[in-house]
Amino acid sequence: MTTGALLKRFYERSIESPEAFWEEQAALIHWEHPFERVLDYSKPPFARWFPGGRTNLCHNAVDRHLAERGEQTALAYVSTETGFEHNYSYRELHAEVNRFAAILQRLHVRRGERVIIYMPMIPEAVFAMLACARIGAVHSVVFGGFASHSLATRIDDARPALLVTADAGMRGGKPVCYKPLVDEACRLAKHPPQHVLIVNRGLDPSMARVPKRDLDYAEQRSAVGDAQVPVAWLDATEPSYILYTSGTTGKPKGVQRDTGGYAVALAASMRHIFCGNPGEAMFTTSDIGWVVGHSYIVYGPLIHGMTTVMYEGLPIRPDPGIWWQLVERHRVSVMFSSPTAIRVLKKQDPEYLKRHDVSSLRTLFLAGEPLDEPTARWISDGLSVPVVDNYWQTETGWPILSAMPGVEETPRKFGSPSFPVYGYNVQLLDENTGVPVPPGQKGVLGIVPPLPPGCLSTIWGDDARFVSTYFSLFRNRMVYSSFDWGIRDEDGYYFILGRTDDVINVAGHRLGTREIEEAISSHANVAEVAVVGVEDALKGQVPVAFVVAKSALDPADAAACGALEREVMDTVDRKLGPIARPARVHAVGLLPKTRSGKLLRRSIQALAEGRDPGDLTTLDDATALEQIRAALARRPG
Ligand code: AMP
Repeated sequence: MTTGALLKRFYERSIESPEAFWEEQAALIHWEHPFERVLDYSKPPFARWFPGGRTNLCHNAVDRHLAERGEQTALAYVSTETGFEHNYSYRELHAEVNRFAAILQRLHVRRGERVIIYMPMIPEAVFAMLACARIGAVHSVVFGGFASHSLATRIDDARPALLVTADAGMRGGKPVCYKPLVDEACRLAKHPPQHVLIVNRGLDPSMARVPKRDLDYAEQRSAVGDAQVPVAWLDATEPSYILYTSGTTGKPKGVQRDTGGYAVALAASMRHIFCGNPGEAMFTTSDIGWVVGHSYIVYGPLIHGMTTVMYEGLPIRPDPGIWWQLVERHRVSVMFSSPTAIRVLKKQDPEYLKRHDVSSLRTLFLAGEPLDEPTARWISDGLSVPVVDNYWQTETGWPILSAMPGVEETPRKFGSPSFPVYGYNVQLLDENTGVPVPPGQKGVLGIVPPLPPGCLSTIWGDDARFVSTYFSLFRNRMVYSSFDWGIRDEDGYYFILGRTDDVINVAGHRLGTREIEEAISSHANVAEVAVVGVEDALKGQVPVAFVVAKSALDPADAAACGALEREVMDTVDRKLGPIARPARVHAVGLLPKTRSGKLLRRSIQALAEGRDPGDLTTLDDATALEQIRAALARRPG
């Protein structure tokens, strides 16, 4: 049989007979009550997987393993920031999750109600997620790097009954206080939560508390003792969580995930893509605030009976060998990281890759942004480990394009996340006609619905937005749009070429340019602003802002422009968090627009990357582009 034939058959079956295919995969998880149907697709594009089936994510991730692997480490926690380390066995994890679930019940959090988790990388964040899943509450983890305004928008959209946080995180040896941001977010929000539960790590001695609203986790934990909370058996289609992601509008979208489909998709991916074995360890270097953290720090490895390594700290502290030290210590067999993180390590002495015994490691998976060949080669050769580039989105929850070594080993090409994954009917489409393009021609990466299990079931509270955002790119065809350009070569390998919309990818994380523009516009002296993503050697892309000041500001006045730049950066830090801070803020007198008043973002971006600005026939005032050029040519003040 030729290479790839097995994989091809596996894939084709998933597309031609999705119900039979997914029924088989569904056997990988525990069903308390069998599903009535594999798929209800009576209301396209809404796919309801395994309706009538009752299951629970927490049961599948924790309880189910107690008999066989109660003493095995479930969660290996390491913080090089605080020095705290602990291996939680499945039994201990079960006990902690039960305590947390009892606290939720004590605070009257009910099934279907939302809990926002705004926490650093500490074990309690995992307990909180699993406890929500246990009782059927819907968690929404908000990345700790987001600031109060971002948190407030998410609070108002999710309307949580409870917010769980910590006094502080730690980064590079310095505390990063969370609680003041929570207080400010609760003040800004129209629908603040009734309670805020705080894990006090003792990092912020001056932490203020709001009487009645703020509760101490340690006190609550001792009050519930060794309580046992029965698992709530949810319908497979009930929501498990909301995770906000950026789009082309300022308002973040709450990606809503179901329960049964997600559990099945993750269980299947652990076997066919990640090839982890129960009892082994997986180390995913993401953050619980991102989708990779949800799927492959928490749910995926645990559902699969693996040990998950959770790490708080930088990849280069105490030294750039820390990750490999953890691989050695926990005998990690599967690792998942991002190209940006590897590029950070690449700046360090390559000797660090050789200091530890990483022979347990079978594969390093990288995702989140395009993986360049030098980075892939450097790490693959340095560790003598194969690298698997995989492509997906917050929306899908698990890979869309990837090699699938668990089905069949196939040769990999640098720069390509290989092939469409089983379940995804991927097509590259002409942006105007929606017709599939031939190999070698660029097209929008689309997925013909129904989307497979595990993908978003809708946008939280907004079914219409789900349809209009993702399924309305083509008038005559209902296809899910990824908003990424892709190209396929003659051998069927896919390559991702970047976004088709106004979203930028900073260190593997999506940021909407509109969201950053809205934050900048709140500055009293900003009349107009344009934010574009500009190529960056380390982070892939960084936001760069061009602002028109309200006051008469001479773009050549370095001191005044420098002051405005700092103020604008501070504004973004305060509103959205440092993750969204523009790398540069340039003052200009005018922004390039079309005659109908639309910003020519692509031309601005092209200039900022030193490329040709492209078709300018619709440009209203040619001097605007000259101003952008001049601003870019000026040295930082
Ligand atoms: P997020 O939803 O924040 O995980 O971002 C998803 C986006 O990141 C995708 O739409 C792509 O633009 C980009 N992306 C993710 N993985 C890859 C990859 N392996 N290669 C190229 N781009 C990627």
